[in-house]
Amino acid sequence: MRHYLKSFLFHISILITTQAYANCVENVCIASQKTPAGIELHAQNQASTTAVMEITADLKNLKASPTLPIRLEVPPFQKALVTTLEPIDARQGYSYAYQFNVHKLAPPAPCKGDVCIESSNTMLGIDLIAKNSTYGDVTMHLDAQLDNLKSNPALPLIKVLPARSQLTIAQLTREKMAHSQGFQLKIRHVIGNIYAHHDASTVYRLPFNPGSSHLVGQGFDGAFTHKGSNRFAIDFNMPIGTPVLAARAGTVVDIKSNGTAGCPEKRCEADGNYVRIQHADATIADYAHFKFQGVTVVTGQKVSTGQMLGYSGATGYASGPHLHFAVKKPISLDAWESIPIKFISTDGIISQPLEGQTYTATLP
Ligand SMILES: [Zn+2]
Repeated sequence: MRHYLKSFLFHISILITTQAYANCVENVCIASQKTPAGIELHAQNQASTTAVMEITADLKNLKASPTLPIRLEVPPFQKALVTTLEPIDARQGYSYAYQFNVHKLAPPAPCKGDVCIESSNTMLGIDLIAKNSTYGDVTMHLDAQLDNLKSNPALPLIKVLPARSQLTIAQLTREKMAHSQGFQLKIRHVIGNIYAHHDASTVYRLPFNPGSSHLVGQGFDGAFTHKGSNRFAIDFNMPIGTPVLAARAGTVVDIKSNGTAGCPEKRCEADGNYVRIQHADATIADYAHFKFQGVTVVTGQKVSTGQMLGYSGATGYASGPHLHFAVKKPISLDAWESIPIKFISTDGIISQPLEGQTYTATLP
């Protein structure tokens, strides 16, 4: 855990008979209170953001329960019991003393799956570092509640994080020097790159073996499910176990292979097995309904056009055995769009695959 600005030290040595007192560091105050059980130490957070701290102590003739060091998170404007100190030897005339240290820590790095924000203290303030551990681009939305801090660039902001990248996306600096400060981050992200621009000159291969033919069960704007974000998807009917080939080269960014159920209802959607491939132009191809454990590539793998991805099936939201294929990109944090594409077949280049028509794969 990185230290927040610097660590602060309380040096307080007192006798057990001392009155309750409070001592503050930044926006956190530690107060002691004498109770029949001993001395209770409380942490009071006086800021509008969560305080995270680690408390260590040097105790003389006292034992702490729970024992120190202890790590605490105290919500805004709340008080929390740190520990209770009890004399080890309670005979009269014995003195008891303690001193404790409070290290104020950065709030825990918020992560959403494999996308995280870390904070790092610098001479000028706090750097916010975004980390994308996935194999594809991610579009992140960052917002924060800032207490006596300002952000450069201003928040909220949207940033595309390339695959496996780490970059500083904002710097926080203190507004008033002698005041306390804090921050709480809110991140959201979507897989993919909202600025992806499909290379319209790309001709895709049909996603099955050259020489083999499959009927289009549902084409662009298909009445069953090819609407909205799936408008430009194509379903190729094929028996379960048919090899599925990459229609275009790229990097495997996500797979699912453990789904077993399939039915023509929304409730089966989550069981659908798939392979997602990010292309050079950052668009993502979605190959869906693979059979149970029928995916033969792994996340992070680079695949070339025509490389085998696995075996078709009928898992997920499917009315029967087929391969669903679509090229997509996110257009916001909440919405995707599909992109019309062209295929090469034995009949030449097909820019509008027709429902009910059979197409035969060929090499370009
Ligand atoms: Zn489909």
